[in-house]
Amino acid sequence: MKITRITSHVLQYDLPETLGYSQQFYTRRSAHLVEVETDEGVTGWGECFGPGNVALANRAIVEQVIQPLVLGMDPLDRDVIWHRVYNLLRDHGQKGMPMQALSGVDIALWDIAGKVAGLPLHKLIGGAHRADVPVYGYGMMLRHEPVADLAARFTDEAAAIRDAGFVAAKMKVGLGPRDDVRLAEAVRRGVGPEYRFMVDANHCYTTSDAFYVGRALEELEAYWFEEPVAPEDHDGYRELRAGLDVNISGGEAEFGRWGWRALLESRGLDIAQPEVCALGGISEYLRVLALCHAHHTPVVNHVWGSAVAVATNLQLLAAMPPLPGGLHPWEPMLEFDTTHNAFRDDLLTEPLAIQAQVARTGGRCAIPGGPGLGVEPDRDVIRHYRID
Ligand code: CA
Repeated sequence: MKITRITSHVLQYDLPETLGYSQQFYTRRSAHLVEVETDEGVTGWGECFGPGNVALANRAIVEQVIQPLVLGMDPLDRDVIWHRVYNLLRDHGQKGMPMQALSGVDIALWDIAGKVAGLPLHKLIGGAHRADVPVYGYGMMLRHEPVADLAARFTDEAAAIRDAGFVAAKMKVGLGPRDDVRLAEAVRRGVGPEYRFMVDANHCYTTSDAFYVGRALEELEAYWFEEPVAPEDHDGYRELRAGLDVNISGGEAEFGRWGWRALLESRGLDIAQPEVCALGGISEYLRVLALCHAHHTPVVNHVWGSAVAVATNLQLLAAMPPLPGGLHPWEPMLEFDTTHNAFRDDLLTEPLAIQAQVARTGGRCAIPGGPGLGVEPDRDVIRHYRID
């Protein structure tokens, strides 16, 4: 079997409302799908992390840099392909967009391998440790509103996420330490005393500001404090983890096994959040997962993007071994964006219907059982949203 063509599809639409996190506001949702075609008619799908103009730049890397390196190669030789691409791009990007671009191609190659074998991805990896996974809902994005209005909105939205059946809720912060604590208090009011909630800072704090917010989160019994400081700041992560009781999480902006080795060895993470569509694809995710477990660091995958990324993560969460195991083991969760996302809800020929599953089962989502990723994008939907 030979790879005959690699195509990037960058999809975009205007969101019904402007949403924000600690770094910026945004008005559009985008997704970057990668399609790998073969001479035997088997097609694989993958996805690259990165919105907007980043997706357009990654499309050029996929089609103009990676494609010429791998045309004619056997798509089943995915590890050979991974290392050929990585070694030839090493001088130009061991992290960032080249790795995001490689991720989408690698995921598509695993989809092809599953389709050829007639097996779902979790079977190729070694089997499902769980038939379904708990799902947490993130929302509570920043908006152009006074903090009192935003706090009231966060209280209502947090309660709505809980009532929709999600097992936990995650909020954004980023107004500054004092207002951010007010927002976190508003979320705790919304979900009540027992329910689990998490706080995502998207690396907006200095270490001392992160301590201020983190101490308040301890009082509020938040479950984790995500990306409190810059991803490069391993010392800040280590100091926060040593000094705070709230779990410190992060890693979505780290790439490859060498980046992850340094991050894990710095001992700054209670919970690791690898992003399979960015760090190097499924091949590299499995190596990073092994590294995390070698450090006894539990993993909750970072999930962003379309239904292709969600399906990939469902497969990986099924195949994640329990750490450390037990009668009532610690479980990973699927991250689920509760804001408007047509690329997740409308993209597939057979939708995952996660919201309906969560409502029906009390917060869980089944693992797709079809070959490969177990999902098939609808080409009419791709044509409708594709930008050139
Ligand atoms: Ca995050």
